[in-house]
Amino acid sequence: MQDRGSVQARLQALLEHIRETNEHFLGYPCNTDFNYDELTPFLHYHINNIGDPFVDSNYRCNTREQEREVLDYFAGLYHLPKGDEWGYVTSGGTEGNMCGLFLARETYPKGTLYFSEESHYSIFKIAKVLRMEYVVIRTEDDGTMDMEDLDQKIRERPNSPVIVNVNIGTTMKGAIDSIDDIVSVIKKNNIANVYLHCDAALFGMILPFIKNAPTLSFNQPISSIAISGHKFIGSPIPCGILLARKVCADRIAHPVEYVHSMDTTISGSRSGYGALLLWYAIEKRRHQFALEAQNCLDRAEWLMQVFQKAGIPCFKNPFSPIVVFKRPSDKLIQKWEIAVQRDWAHIIIMQHTSIEKLQKFLEELFIEQKIPLHPLQSAVS
Ligand SMILES: *Cc1c(COP(=O)(O)O)cnc(C)c1O
Repeated sequence: MQDRGSVQARLQALLEHIRETNEHFLGYPCNTDFNYDELTPFLHYHINNIGDPFVDSNYRCNTREQEREVLDYFAGLYHLPKGDEWGYVTSGGTEGNMCGLFLARETYPKGTLYFSEESHYSIFKIAKVLRMEYVVIRTEDDGTMDMEDLDQKIRERPNSPVIVNVNIGTTMKGAIDSIDDIVSVIKKNNIANVYLHCDAALFGMILPFIKNAPTLSFNQPISSIAISGHKFIGSPIPCGILLARKVCADRIAHPVEYVHSMDTTISGSRSGYGALLLWYAIEKRRHQFALEAQNCLDRAEWLMQVFQKAGIPCFKNPFSPIVVFKRPSDKLIQKWEIAVQRDWAHIIIMQHTSIEKLQKFLEELFIEQKIPLHPLQSAVS
């Protein structure tokens, strides 16, 4: 067997590699600017929030109380009254989408799921796992769902309940589907059986804090929202939040004697650490989330201006920290961990994406593309 060195040496090498990757991390929406040192002692325990967070379990080493406070916080952000509130801390955005669409399917087993072609890849997978009938809707150039196409596709299935996965910020272009427009199209078709699930993985922690941003609220006829915890908030392990109307969860609830709770969650055992991380981040940073979000959007505007001055084709949706630009070389894509799709690439401005880091990247990009460096300098001043 090949000698890979001592465990200690390998851990050291791994740590250095991980630190190095953090220096060049521009393409994915995971905030790396966090500190949870105070929670380290909890890593000595197996903390498991098995079962429904609102129904106490026999498994006592848990963080359900903190989990419920996290859910209360998000219920407040999205105007879900306390008595109507349900949800749980998930393993990430995908599990939130899975649970939201599971609730939808249990509500309308004969429903059709509509989602746009720019939806996150998890939606395609979930439609298959849940064996839901689904129809993919075209998008406009900006990445939002094409309402004429939705209208036509709904008209082709006049007797089917309508389930829509609403993109609150698409992964590639940061496009926000209009809940109001989707509701109008459904109303126009006289469909009463409707379930709207909102995939707000990243933007769910941006829009509530930005003035004049599109509304994301349970005052609208939506039934569930999924958010990723490790994206805007940031965490050392993936986690997320699913928030739903309690009436929807009641349809899937059934008691399990073995753990003395309700089996309403997709996972059985659930990380109590994830809930604790989110709770801690909210306690420490709730007063500054608005500023963090605004700063990300401001730097995204700055980057757009630099690209425009340099004559590099680029695009950004309103209220989005995602700057789309013409695909650079594979060398830069790799080094800076930039996400790409065909001819386009994007940089996502998160809390850790400083102007200094962007300038380092831009310098390399400009040199590669033989663009004079002065647009960079004038944008700074
Ligand atoms: C990242 C993302 C997801 C999936 O979230 P994970 O936490 O990676 O499972 C879902 N939808 C959108 C729009 C995303 O950007």
